[in-house]
Amino acid sequence: MAPAAVLAATVLSPFGVAFLATATFAFGLVLGSFANVVIARVPRGESIVHPGSHCPSCEAPVRPRDNIPVVSWVALHGRCRDCGWSIPARYPLIELTFGVGVLVAAVTVYAFLAL
Ligand SMILES: [Zn+2]
Repeated sequence: MAPAAVLAATVLSPFGVAFLATATFAFGLVLGSFANVVIARVPRGESIVHPGSHCPSCEAPVRPRDNIPVVSWVALHGRCRDCGWSIPARYPLIELTFGVGVLVAAVTVYAFLAL
């Protein structure tokens, strides 16, 4: 085994592996959330920084608790808290795609190192 795999196998408990997998998946969700910003704004020539996250319909700022990838969309039943605008399902789907993709990429790199 490669040194990195030996290190991981000797240091990480099953809980450590589960934590790393969860953190990697969550990192992917956050990347997917940022991808949604890029996908929505860049074609319109808008900044990806300013203004902060807001509803495209009523322009109300998105509260931090309503800005958690996937979780907030589910909690809000896919609707804006302020105006009820139907938030397209592509938002959580893109976030999930990035979450799974980053996790698969990380596992692939780990498997490659373990050979
Ligand atoms: Zn709204």
